[in-house]
Amino acid sequence: MKMWQHTGLIGPMSGPASQIPMSHDCLFCKIARHEIPARIVHEDDEFLAFHDINPAAPVHLLLIPKHHVASLADIGPADGDWLVRMLRLAPEIAFANGCNPMPAGGFRLVANTGAEGGQEIDHLHFHILGGERPWSNRAAPAA
Ligand code: 5GP
Ligand code: ZN
Repeated sequence: MKMWQHTGLIGPMSGPASQIPMSHDCLFCKIARHEIPARIVHEDDEFLAFHDINPAAPVHLLLIPKHHVASLADIGPADGDWLVRMLRLAPEIAFANGCNPMPAGGFRLVANTGAEGGQEIDHLHFHILGGERPWSNRAAPAA
C-alpha cells in the first residue's frame, strides 16, 4: 500500500482543531510562523505551501494564506485581490512540485469548507493533489 492509499474521504480525521477559534492557537498559523515544522515548498510574504502530513495522492500539498482566514465562507469583497493571487499561485506550485504537465497531467484543487464540507483545520487552505493515478479514495471518491 502506497503512503497516500488510506481509506476514508479527505475530511475530518479526529481531534479538536476545528474547534479552535483563535489564530494564536491555529495549527496553520503556527506553521506559517514557523513554530511548527512543515516540509515547505513555497513561501512569500502572503502565502505558504507545504506537504500534507497525510498525503492522499502522489503529490499532496497545502497552500495557505499567512494571515488567518477560517474558510472560504469568510471571504468578503475586500479579499478579491489576494485570493486571485492565491489561485494563480496554485498551478505554479503544483507544476513545480511533481504534478505532471498539461494536458495529460494536471492537478486537483480542493477547499473543504465547514464541517459538512469536511474541513478539519479552520484556516483556509487549498489542497493541491496530483501525480499518477490511482489516488486514494479520499482524494478521488468520484473520479
Ligand atoms: P481539511 O480536512 O481541513 O481540508 O485538511 C486538513 C489537512 O491538513 C489534512 O489533509 C491533514 O492531513 C493535514 N494536516 C493536519 N495536521 C497537519 C500538520 O501538522 N502538518 C501538515 N503538514 N499537515 C497537516
Ligand atoms: Zn490560522
